[in-house]
Amino acid sequence: MTTLSLHALRKTYPGAGHAAVHGLDLTAASGSLTALLGPSGCGKTTTMKLIAGLIAPDAGEVRLDTGPITHLPPEQRGVTMVFQNPLLFPHLTIAQNIGFGLRMRGLPPARIADSVAAMLSRVRLDGLGDRRPAALSGGQQQRAALARALVLHPRVLLLDEPLSNLDPGLRDEMRQLIRGLQLETGITTIVVTHDQAEAVALADRIALMLDGHLAQHGPPEDLYRRPASLAVARFFGGVNFLPGRSEGGVFRSALGTLTLPPGMPEGDGILTLRPEALRLGPGPNARMARVDAVTFLGTQTRISLTVEGCALQALTTPDLATALAAGTSLAVSLPPEALWLLPPE
Ligand code: ATP
Repeated sequence: MTTLSLHALRKTYPGAGHAAVHGLDLTAASGSLTALLGPSGCGKTTTMKLIAGLIAPDAGEVRLDTGPITHLPPEQRGVTMVFQNPLLFPHLTIAQNIGFGLRMRGLPPARIADSVAAMLSRVRLDGLGDRRPAALSGGQQQRAALARALVLHPRVLLLDEPLSNLDPGLRDEMRQLIRGLQLETGITTIVVTHDQAEAVALADRIALMLDGHLAQHGPPEDLYRRPASLAVARFFGGVNFLPGRSEGGVFRSALGTLTLPPGMPEGDGILTLRPEALRLGPGPNARMARVDAVTFLGTQTRISLTVEGCALQALTTPDLATALAAGTSLAVSLPPEALWLLPPE
């Protein structure tokens, strides 16, 4: 069991105008699965390569438990990285690919064969060990790459976008396989993804990176319901933002005075409410609204509203939205317990 921690890690690529990773502090608890989430170019892959030792930081430290590993070459770190496109050796069989690292370590052939057979079965590739990589589907190659990493019992496993090349059905299967194996082995794991729904479904904790910085780190529900900034709220699909001022338990804005939940900070801020928490119908903090558009999205329907001149959005189930059409008016309510205050920009 290993805790991974990054301390003030910084990396600027030669010739780049800005740092790819700026002073990153992050701790992944022993045995946890952390999703390193963020938009393209925010520094996720650079962070993984710094942990794996494939590139060197300009400053800062990578530690496993309390010991720094920043000075160690990749093969001595106990960290294994699986890339987005599985880099299997094309001329070796799947079993030889999975056993490759064990052969390099000089293990006896019988032990290697046992470990490889057990691992093939754990990633559900039984019977395919004699095939070459080209004779496997993309999803099967991903599983072989995962097996090749796990068979080495790394202290830390890094998976770079392991699901992005798979179609939706396989993605779900691979996600469950990764989570199942991770819980079973207890290996501290970091999974890179740019898909917030995937991060929420997979991880114990999410580390959201924006522009080379750690924007927020916590359980998925915190990033959804208690975002630390407007940028985090937007990344997680937040759409309702009202500038105003919090004072004495109420928020004054273009919507008038709204009751806040207890414990909100005082002063200028931006009030936010997730679209699925905006209630159609009377209740606390009720206001009259005009429906601007009703958009059927499949499992949900989006209602675009104007309330006191402010644009707000609600997400509801399609059956609750059938009576609504553009131009109708209705009461909506903003339940105080669903309101959250963001710092001003
Ligand atoms: P993606 O999701 O698209 O893979 P990412 O979040 O993994 O993106 P990085 O690949 O870490 O982002 O890149 C961070 C920044 O560093 C980007 O601006 C990128 O253009 C730059 N960068 C990455 N690799 C290099 C390199 N070898 N040389 C110069 N700049 C680089």
